[in-house]
Amino acid sequence: MVDLSQDQVAKRAAIQKTALIWGVVVGAIVGLVLLWILGGQGGAVRFGGALVIGMATAFAVFRASFNSAAKTAKCDSCGAAFSRSRSDHVETLIASTPKDERKEQPDKSTQVTSWIEDKFDVLDTYTCAKCSNVTTKAYQTTRRRDEETVTFPYESAKGGQSQKGASAGDGKSDEGKTDSTSGRKGSGR
Ligand SMILES: [Zn+2]
Repeated sequence: MVDLSQDQVAKRAAIQKTALIWGVVVGAIVGLVLLWILGGQGGAVRFGGALVIGMATAFAVFRASFNSAAKTAKCDSCGAAFSRSRSDHVETLIASTPKDERKEQPDKSTQVTSWIEDKFDVLDTYTCAKCSNVTTKAYQTTRRRDEETVTFPYESAKGGQSQKGASAGDGKSDEGKTDSTSGRKGSGR
């Protein structure tokens, strides 16, 4: 092993901690699900199986998470481990789109959820603590804000009035529910 600086040791510890939390959480969930699935089995099989597989899962998740984070933290330029960290994060708003979604409820009322979807260009900058090499990563992200849910009661045909007003007539301007959760694209290096 190469000697690690204080920063690198601290970074490795932080990555280990995050990976450990993931491993424990996922392992515990798998273990509990197994306890439930194996409900009809004898105690030894049930608890033993859940324990062994839960722990194996926890270990696998820990390793996967740790390796992935360690890879991100490794400098491509000088090859130092646990040296690269995010030094800047810039978000630029590029579009705000009003959206809505309507759902008919079991009692025939209509639930309308509306929100503003903000789309951002994101530029992350990573800097190596050893050689000061700077890399950037550009991607897009979307976030919802001002979410509002209104329920319009079901209006039976009573005298033929107020029917149109209640059903929020601007439904046609809905943009066909375009799936705009844009993926990450291209890493600039
Ligand atoms: Zn470096």
